Amino acid sequence: MTLSPAEPRCEAVAVVFGRVAETGSTSEIMRSVGSETKVIDLNGKTVLPGFIDTHVHLDDFGLTLRTVNMEGVTSVADVRRLLSERVSHTPRGDWVLGRGWNENVLKEKRLLTRWDIDEVSPDNPLYLHHFSCHATLLNSRGLEASGIDRHTKPPAGGWIDVDESGEPTGFLRSNARFMAPVGLNGVRPRPNLGTLREALLVGVNEAVKYGLTSIHVPSADRDEIKVTQELAAEGMLPLRVTLLPKVELLDHALKLGIGSGLGDEWLGIGAVKIFSDGSLIARTAAVKESFDGEPENEGILNDPGVFSRQILEANRAGMQVSVHAVGDRAIEAVLAAYEAALRDTPREDHRHRIEHGSLFPRGLRDWARRLGVVVSTQPELVTRNGDGFQASLGDRRMRYTYPIKSLLEEGIIVSGSSDCPLTYPNPLKGIWSATTRTSENTGEIITAGERVTIDQAIRMYTINAAMVSFDEKRKGTIERGKLADFTVLSADPYEVSPEEILNIRVEMTIVGGKVV
Ligand SMILES: [Zn+2]
Repeated sequence: MTLSPAEPRCEAVAVVFGRVAETGSTSEIMRSVGSETKVIDLNGKTVLPGFIDTHVHLDDFGLTLRTVNMEGVTSVADVRRLLSERVSHTPRGDWVLGRGWNENVLKEKRLLTRWDIDEVSPDNPLYLHHFSCHATLLNSRGLEASGIDRHTKPPAGGWIDVDESGEPTGFLRSNARFMAPVGLNGVRPRPNLGTLREALLVGVNEAVKYGLTSIHVPSADRDEIKVTQELAAEGMLPLRVTLLPKVELLDHALKLGIGSGLGDEWLGIGAVKIFSDGSLIARTAAVKESFDGEPENEGILNDPGVFSRQILEANRAGMQVSVHAVGDRAIEAVLAAYEAALRDTPREDHRHRIEHGSLFPRGLRDWARRLGVVVSTQPELVTRNGDGFQASLGDRRMRYTYPIKSLLEEGIIVSGSSDCPLTYPNPLKGIWSATTRTSENTGEIITAGERVTIDQAIRMYTINAAMVSFDEKRKGTIERGKLADFTVLSADPYEVSPEEILNIRVEMTIVGGKVV
């Protein structure tokens, strides 16, 4: 499958110097085989343009793979068992980090508290990252080590959950999780460069197993940029990376005159990454109407004065901008900021991005389309947590929660991504989620009208993803002159039923003509 309108399917591809030289029938292509040519016979397997994931936190991913994995754990007893195992191998007093626990999967169906876990770790502080990645649970030792007690005030944009008597339960939401001296996402303490290098290598080598040939890395800081650059220079990157520098680096980039697009085909600078709100799962996204069951909670909107100015400056300098915006109130504020910036400095083809775009009603979609905004979103969150969204948003708002089909059919470019490590960087899973929207917990279909076709889903992870970083001239389809990046699958996703997509295996990942 080439995804090229001129020749949607072909049998064989010739690659010269890492680029596609020719596509056609096997007999045509075999004519140009010489004594030096390496021939790979795929025995009729399906080849797609290489998958691209437009939102992978690479440092978090690599570092997260080293923490206690509590994904899919179904009881408090199992949580305890996993933790005591790791604690027993950890020096007394050292932090133990875990990840991925999910109260919807626990048979107890409630948030964990420190009293659930204190017993298994009396001497080691625990930091257990909630599956939303926007909240965490500490045990009593952990709270102590973070200086949190019943008198502690939460920071702006954060909450410390308390019980009826006012005692902290250990659950810290949004910015409150940064009160701990350790943490995941924006990993603290920042690892030294050696550990970071190991983590990035683990991350990229894991990503290619899922057929990824390019990834976008949001919120890259100086160290991540530096180490990724070293890996690229040493030829150690098995896939292509677009770095989205965090906004704190904007001033430096502007002083250096660095803009989006700088780099080569292996490593490039993309949009500058800005945050406007929190997360739907942790109920901290900025919503226009409060969350169901929490009449006081309309989420958290970062200061629009601050991010609007950043957007204005970046737009003036000709940079692409990418803003994390989940709730409808956040999306509205970001679109207003984009409009103001583009009025100040009009640009023909800016492709400013909205990351996530989760609660996206019709009026805001129309506005986004008029402005030429593109959206990088995560279909897997629908199947992973659609039931949770239903509980926080109710039926009416669910109709425009991750409205992927509407966005696409109304003419907005939408790319697929994992927000890894929030979900695994597995495009086939994302494609399955986007086409089925079937809850992984209940099997119910979540907003059937927003299921996309297989072709739309595959485009989200190929050509659309390429467009989101201005790479459509060299990535996203299999065409003469483009980079020879291919994902080889065990079956043709266009031929199987959507339910069967999960049974398809990635047989091979080819980047620049080389099997990685
Ligand atoms: Zn993210």
